[in-house]
Amino acid sequence: MITKILNSPMGQMISTWRMSEEGLRLGNQILQEKDELGEAIVRAVKCVEDNPAYVSVGYGGLPNREGQVELDAAYMDGDTLGTGAVISVKNLKNPIEAAYRLSKKKTNSILAGDGAMKYASYEGLPCRNMLTESSRKRYEEEKKEQMKEEERRAYEGHDTVCIIGRSRKGSMACGVSTSGLYMKEPGRVGDSPFIGSGFYADSEAGAAAATGMGEDIMKGCLSFAIVEKMRSGLPVQEACEKALEEHWRRLERRGYTNRGMSVIAMDNQGNAGAATTLDEFPFVVAGKDGCRLYVASMDQETGEHFLFAPDEEWLKNSKSD
Ligand code: ASP
Repeated sequence: MITKILNSPMGQMISTWRMSEEGLRLGNQILQEKDELGEAIVRAVKCVEDNPAYVSVGYGGLPNREGQVELDAAYMDGDTLGTGAVISVKNLKNPIEAAYRLSKKKTNSILAGDGAMKYASYEGLPCRNMLTESSRKRYEEEKKEQMKEEERRAYEGHDTVCIIGRSRKGSMACGVSTSGLYMKEPGRVGDSPFIGSGFYADSEAGAAAATGMGEDIMKGCLSFAIVEKMRSGLPVQEACEKALEEHWRRLERRGYTNRGMSVIAMDNQGNAGAATTLDEFPFVVAGKDGCRLYVASMDQETGEHFLFAPDEEWLKNSKSD
């Protein structure tokens, strides 16, 4: 097993899923050239939010049961612990930008629905109809399918873009953005915009973020659990595996089935780690030597965790988001 992916004294980043690759490249360039952590993370997340090809984040995101795209985003500054989040926002072009600005406020920093949109409009942030024509078509088709079923099923493609970064001075931060579960009930919120569940950053210890079934991730405040393990001295990869394992077993004892949870983390020295309960979870690591895709995996029979660098064959056969 690879336990240390990249170790460099330079500012570094780690992100979830293949969809984050282009954004991470951009963010890493900003970090390497200017050492501007907030800008690097926000630009990286925006790059994913703006791309309609990525159907689980931002523009062209997965609609709820009523055909509306409802988005959640959050940002945490690991120096100040300042946290901002917007929850269930519709038609906001870049939810991460609003979350970033809110993270600088000492009160009223987590806003939902209309309140979040009022704030965004006050700040002059751009709005846009987030439902693309292809999202609308997919929604119409899914609706027809679901009418045939007794129980609504959550589409399997839901994901969150999570970006963690560390500056040369050792500041850490984290940004996340998602449209949540496909065909969710209007107003449903997952782990992503909740501090400690979907993300956590503390420059004194490290940062972590999660993606997967939010209702399950939240039951263990998974991101906070990983950071606390790093704080108590566990190496980043072990912290990811141990926190996820303990949480997954806790759920399993209660009769839950594995609906997929994946995590990324970075310690306060810039070492990166990741773990998953899925067969495969792609993530990207960037540093002064460039950007590279890795895959975390869990053996479904033994529960053993692995990390590997995918080859050409894997890249050709796996989905691009
Ligand atoms: N965690 C997100 C949510 O539950 C979705 C995901 O990351 O797959 O809203």
